[in-house]
Amino acid sequence: MLITNLEHFLATDGSIAPKEGPALRLADYLTKIVVAETALCQTQPETMVVRCRRRPNRKPCAGEIDSYIDPVTNQIIWWCSVCEEQGSISHWQGSLWDCTDNAQSH
Ligand SMILES: [Zn+2]
Repeated sequence: MLITNLEHFLATDGSIAPKEGPALRLADYLTKIVVAETALCQTQPETMVVRCRRRPNRKPCAGEIDSYIDPVTNQIIWWCSVCEEQGSISHWQGSLWDCTDNAQSH
């Protein structure tokens, strides 16, 4: 399970801190999951599909990321239904990618 804290990927202005390499790709991936999870009630949910990032045997995994917000910890729990990679994201609340009503009222 890939346990991540979104704050570790953010610069002081709230943008993604890594500029290149695996850290940037992972940060990009995690922020997409946060948007997909928190924007469920927005229009056009089909544009919110996050593709699995794994490439088993050098072929892109065909899976899509599913997620939910854990009601106890408020972490976003995500997983791929095909390869079963899974992880959690904490400290996403209030980030630029938090699309919940709470964020908009700040
Ligand atoms: Zn997968």
